[in-house]
Amino acid sequence: MPSEVVTMDKIVSLAKRRGFIFPASEIYGGIANTYDYGHYGVLLKQNVVNQWWKAMIQDRDDIVALDSAIIQHPRTWEASGHLAGFTDPLVQCLGKCKRRFRADHLREGAEARGEPTDHLVCPVCGGELSEPRAFNLMFETTIGPVQEAGSAVYLRPETAQGIFLDFKQVLQFARRKPPFGIAQVGKSFRNEITPGNFIFRTLEFEQMEMEYFVPPGEADQWYEHWMRERFDWYVRLGIDPEHLRLRAHGAEELSHYSSATSDIEYLYPIGWSELEGIANRGDYDLTQHAQFSGEKLDWVDPQTGDRYIPHVIEPAAGVGRSLLAFLCDAYDEDEIGGERRTVLRLHPALAPVKVAVLPLLRKAGHPEKARAVYEDLRRHMKAEYDDGGAIGRRYRRQDEIGTPFAITIDHQTSEDDTVTLRDRDTLEQERVPVEGLAQRLLAKLSA
Ligand code: ATP
Repeated sequence: MPSEVVTMDKIVSLAKRRGFIFPASEIYGGIANTYDYGHYGVLLKQNVVNQWWKAMIQDRDDIVALDSAIIQHPRTWEASGHLAGFTDPLVQCLGKCKRRFRADHLREGAEARGEPTDHLVCPVCGGELSEPRAFNLMFETTIGPVQEAGSAVYLRPETAQGIFLDFKQVLQFARRKPPFGIAQVGKSFRNEITPGNFIFRTLEFEQMEMEYFVPPGEADQWYEHWMRERFDWYVRLGIDPEHLRLRAHGAEELSHYSSATSDIEYLYPIGWSELEGIANRGDYDLTQHAQFSGEKLDWVDPQTGDRYIPHVIEPAAGVGRSLLAFLCDAYDEDEIGGERRTVLRLHPALAPVKVAVLPLLRKAGHPEKARAVYEDLRRHMKAEYDDGGAIGRRYRRQDEIGTPFAITIDHQTSEDDTVTLRDRDTLEQERVPVEGLAQRLLAKLSA
């Protein structure tokens, strides 16, 4: 069962209160399934993405980076199967509200709540539902000023296809041979119609995808490898392994391109749901693009002359969904001195701000000294200076955005050049010298 402390309402309200994430177009009443990221949301998102890049291209040397276009040649989606196959069965409410829902989401929702799935009804008004009908999830637009036949293009529904289209280009400069990977982070778009659940499912979202090209005989072993690697990534960044599980797709659930897929699921407040998918895409995509484009997209071993179409293992994660999992897992409430506190126990690598510098008083030289300490620290890490309001309130604010450390400058600082260093999680306060503060914090942050 999801924890009782964390609810989606609490996460949504904290995200809005502290300016992480809020509904888009709010002055016009909002727009379905679309959110904006404010200051701390941007910083947190950047840290998630940076940690992903680190795992892909800094901590190993068999993966290269790519940033391909969002709008590609429309034949891309014919070849990939998305035009024909990227459809989800929709049901419409035949009762009062007439809303549409994805049949699979209604079923999953009922399963997660432990309810029967043999007779689903409209979750909004309780009306009967129509038979499922297919509906394409891609957003269509046109190139050129007039809408005419042949000018239709699509916003990509996944970043992966750009990687397949550039496979040959990358091979020319990457100086890699299978097994090797191409990684990309960028926006994807899907005309999702299932509402709610905050940033879990949005119309536009960032994906972190990596296509790992392997000799066909090694596909199974690399599939296992990437399931482990990706699971461990979340654990290393602070997610409780008890809140994560791997779930293999049944045959009826597999995407049109996949011969095996497993989801890493997280125990969100809405129940166990997909956080990331790891798919064995076989040689489907390269074969299709070779056929549709007439280009040869196989690998030729320069030494042996062996030729084959590599198989592809794909870990595909959503930035927003990961961020939501990190927020939910970090969210906690405790009590200090009889007062309730909300705290985000974010991993230091993800915390938007690493240290807050707080003068105890707005006089007696405290602000000047604090400013000097802050200016030194910010050369080394994301730091924040805050002199507004009672010290307890300022600590609480930093706790809510997940800042691991706070430095307080007080009257003793002018006497012996020491400050207090407060730890977000243990609440311990140490007296430490100003000299060497940055090194001390850097060591703690990387511990
Ligand atoms: P779902 O069925 O939950 O919508 P999916 O199985 O269609 O997801 P994939 O195509 O496997 O998703 O995409 C890979 C990852 O991209 C997902 O695990 C998820 O993290 C993210 N993702 C996909 N669709 C969305 C969306 N609409 N909003 C936010 N993230 C998404």
